[in-house]
Order: sequence, then structure tokens, then C-alpha cells
Amino acid sequence: MEIKKVMVIGAGQMGSGIAQVCAMAGYSVILNDLKEEFLQRGMGVIGKNLQRQVEKERMTGDEKEQIAARIALSSDISSAKEADLIIEAATENMEIKKSIFTKLDDLAPEHAILASNTSSLPITEIAAVTKRPEKVIGMHFMNPVPVMKLVEIIKGLATDDSVYKAIEDMTKTLKKVPVEVEDFPGFVSNRILMPMINEAIYTLYEGVASKEAIDEVMKLGMNHPMGPLTLADFIGLDTCLSIMEILHEGFGDDKYRPCPLLRKYVKAGWLGKKTGKGFYSYE
Ligand code: NAD
Repeated sequence: MEIKKVMVIGAGQMGSGIAQVCAMAGYSVILNDLKEEFLQRGMGVIGKNLQRQVEKERMTGDEKEQIAARIALSSDISSAKEADLIIEAATENMEIKKSIFTKLDDLAPEHAILASNTSSLPITEIAAVTKRPEKVIGMHFMNPVPVMKLVEIIKGLATDDSVYKAIEDMTKTLKKVPVEVEDFPGFVSNRILMPMINEAIYTLYEGVASKEAIDEVMKLGMNHPMGPLTLADFIGLDTCLSIMEILHEGFGDDKYRPCPLLRKYVKAGWLGKKTGKGFYSYE
């Protein structure tokens, strides 16, 4: 099955990045979100990213225009009827994702593959609300999408091998590296990363060290490119909390309990870089 048109659901941090890399690889893209203003915000981010590439002389102004022109904006989910592949990158919440997949299953052509960029929700459970669980798969991009090479490809219980292969090949066309992963809480990346971030938050909560000191130890001592608290701000503290809750519930093990300080920040609306404030403040 040839993939020509890709629809991306959710024009937030991840969805706008996914739309950008798909358009850069030559796919015709439909970017969808609930409101026009969210679409404009997502397109604004894409425009800035592409402009930076022009300034660094990695692409010409003409190429930038051509890439941007491949992205159509739509606040109407029924645009799914035109897509060969739909990549859902909406808010990390099972009810939201189930509602989206139920609609997509009704609207999308029979051949279309439905992928989710979920960081941690079970692909098998999302697939179960559709009549095509064999065509549902996880495509877990990393943040920031245009920069990071990895895509975890998650096979649900019913995912067909031919669908896995099609998505593996498509991922390579985006100049990304696909890695095959089975469907268990947090997959591989977040099962290892999130408990480390949560532990860094506990370290701050218990007053062991300042936020700067915690980040410095992990940067200089462990050679991490950024400290765990900075990384949490970049990922979004709401996303971090929801992943910890999924690990906690999925494994039933208290070692995954989310730090109370993380809960407090999320309740305050301090969600990290995207809201201008998390562990650090952003302009
Ligand atoms: P975000 O909050 O930046 O963006 C989510 C977008 O989804 C918002 O613009 C919102 O309006 C939109 N949305 C919500 N419900 C919708 C619906 N019914 N239809 C269409 N759009 C809808 O979040 P994000 O960080 O981009 O995360 C999106 C997904 O990607 C989540 O599943 C998250 O777990 C996953 N993810 C995030 C990261 C990360 O580092 N932030 C990394 C990998 C995967």
C-alpha cells in the first residue's frame, strides 16, 4: 500500500513536528486540531523551524515555501477520508484518544493505517475501539521531532506484520530510525526515562539539592545533553505525570508513584516550556 497523504491529529508540540518532517519528506499533509487558533500556532512553529533551516543554508527559501505548501490545515476531522496514514498526536488521555480513533475508524478509507504517537498508553486498548485493530500501530516520535532520530514502532496485540513493515519503511523515508517494541506500559523509552525524571523531582522535593545542581550532576556526571528537570519542562509536566500514572497503574508497582511535587506543579498549570513556567521560567 502506497502512503501519499498523511493526516496528523493535534497541532501541538509533537503534531506540528510530525507534520513538518512528513512534509519535508514529500508527503502531502493534513494537520488537524480542534480550533483554528491551535492550527495557526502549530503552523507558526513549523514556519519558524523552516526559516531557521533557511538561515543555516540547509534549504532554500523556495524549498521552505514548497514544504509549507504541502501542509493543509483542517479543524474538521472528516478530512480523514482523504488520508492513507493518520498519525494521532493529541493530548495524552485515553478517553480523548479512544474518541478520536472511533471517529477515524468510521471516516478513514478502508486501507488507511491509524497510528498513535502516544508516549505510554496501550496501543492494544486504543486499537480495540476500532473495527481494524490489525491496522492500528504506535509511532512514538521523540521531542523535538525534526531533530531526534528515533521512532519507537509499537505493535499492538493484533497489529498485522504487513502494517508494521509499511510503517517501518515509511519511518525510514522521514530519515528516522525505527525500533520495534512490544506493547507494554511506557514501551522502552518512557519505562526507563520517566522513573529517572520522577526520581530527579523527588530529589528536589526532598531538598537534597537545588534544581540547577540536580541538572548539573546529570549533565556533567552522566554526560546527558540536558538535565532531567530541564528535560521534564521540555516534555511537558502534564505529559510526565500522565506517563508515571500509566506506569504505576500498568505495573501495579509503587516504585512508579508520581512525586507529589510533580502533581502540585501540574495542578498549578506550571506545565513547563509550553506554558512559560515549569521547574524553570521561559520567556
Ligand atoms: P500538546 O499539548 O502540545 O498538543 C496536543 C494537541 O492536541 C493540542 O493542540 C490540542 O488542542 C490537540 N487536541 C486535543 N484533543 C484533540 C482532538 N480531539 N482532536 C484534535 N486535536 C486535539 O501535547 P504534545 O506534547 O504534542 O503531545 C501529544 C502526544 O504526543 C501525546 O500523546 C504525548 O504523550 C505524545 N508525545 C509527547 C512527547 C513530548 O515530549 N511532549 C514526546 C513523545 C510523544
